[in-house]
Amino acid sequence: LPVPAPALAYVGVDDLVDDETRDLQAAVREFVDRRIRPHVAAWYEEGHLPARDLARELGDLGVLGMHLDGYGCAGTSATAYGLACFELEAGDSGLRSLVSVQGSLAMYAIWRFGSEEQKQQWLPRMAAGEAIGCFGLTEADFGSDPSGMRTRARRDGGDWVLTGTKMWITNGSIADVAVVWARTDEGIRGFLVPAGAPGLTAPEITRKQSLRASVTSELVLDDVRLPADAMLPGAAGLSGPLSCLNEARFGIVFGALGAAHDCLETTVAYARSRQLFDRPLAAYQATQLKLADMGLELGKGMLLALHLGARKDAGTLDHRQISLGKLNSVREAIAIARECRAILGAAGITLDYPVIRHAANLESVLTYEGTSEVHQLIIGQVLTGHAAFR
Ligand code: FAD
Repeated sequence: LPVPAPALAYVGVDDLVDDETRDLQAAVREFVDRRIRPHVAAWYEEGHLPARDLARELGDLGVLGMHLDGYGCAGTSATAYGLACFELEAGDSGLRSLVSVQGSLAMYAIWRFGSEEQKQQWLPRMAAGEAIGCFGLTEADFGSDPSGMRTRARRDGGDWVLTGTKMWITNGSIADVAVVWARTDEGIRGFLVPAGAPGLTAPEITRKQSLRASVTSELVLDDVRLPADAMLPGAAGLSGPLSCLNEARFGIVFGALGAAHDCLETTVAYARSRQLFDRPLAAYQATQLKLADMGLELGKGMLLALHLGARKDAGTLDHRQISLGKLNSVREAIAIARECRAILGAAGITLDYPVIRHAANLESVLTYEGTSEVHQLIIGQVLTGHAAFR
């Protein structure tokens, strides 16, 4: 072990993954170093992400829907997908969100619940990054409790007619296809709404102070008429969209730790070079206590993430176990980002360092894909047998 050692090398997590997975992770890291890091602070400041260009490049890299089989998808292990999310989010949570929504929400919904025609029509183009997808579940009044959604789909002859407004939809205004969840007479069903459908508009949500390098939009459906075959035949009820969220949450278990890792690496390097009084900042006990605690939490979080990955690959992962990882990774990542920001002093409040960008991004990651409280309630129900959601 070299001294100084990177926090995760010290824990020895690399030994827990096979060579193929390590190579794949290294390829994603190389992409992020080359294509994202030099530009992301400017994108963040401008509130912009060149999503269409990036989607094609991410498609070439093979990370869009990478853990799905067939239809042009790479068919990797879940652990490999998680480690790709780690590297992408070390670049920026907005980049990882683009990949999560595309692969785990939009593509997964079509892959799992779509007809053969729907899969053939969308999945190969989405895997290549030629078509972008979004996932419309949340509404302004129904976030943590999507069962109350007001968006409706009614039958009109052989057609479906959708009315309602979705809120906080990642990729909404740039999507070629929106997976929209709506209430019908037969319960909640999913629909594929192509861009340009008459009655569909997607105004972008501006003035965000978090996840600025990511597109977030409303989806306004004003009597959008769709053919009968626009409905996803395999999803009936809320379990459909919730199973997609489980896929994305799994990626976030790893992803949030990627942001934390980037903060810690940046801060260790800074503390080693920053001279305070007559010594490097890293040589003070007070600094080392903080760095040690952060390295410990990062290592523990990574071991839990890899454990969940191994269970997912073995087909033994209970979706409620993902709550352990999502809650822990995001909570600890936010704590690490804030502590790192403080160690950087005044330099930590600028975009010259990635830390405050990660800290602000993680506020969104804390809220989406189930807030911390929602995951605590899931864990609480497992431990007590009592559902305390309402
Ligand atoms: P609320 O549900 O109003 O929660 C407010 C607070 O109440 C939270 O702290 C919450 O933890 C707490 N709370 C909720 N229920 C309970 C309870 N039973 N007991 C105690 N406390 C409780 N949605 C999509 O469908 N698609 C997307 O692509 C998407 N992208 C997003 C991108 C960003 C940047 C953001 C910020 C959100 C996105 N969302 C998306 C929406 C996201 O999933 C919701 O914001 C999330 O579910 C929380 O809903 P809410 O914001 O309405 O908060």
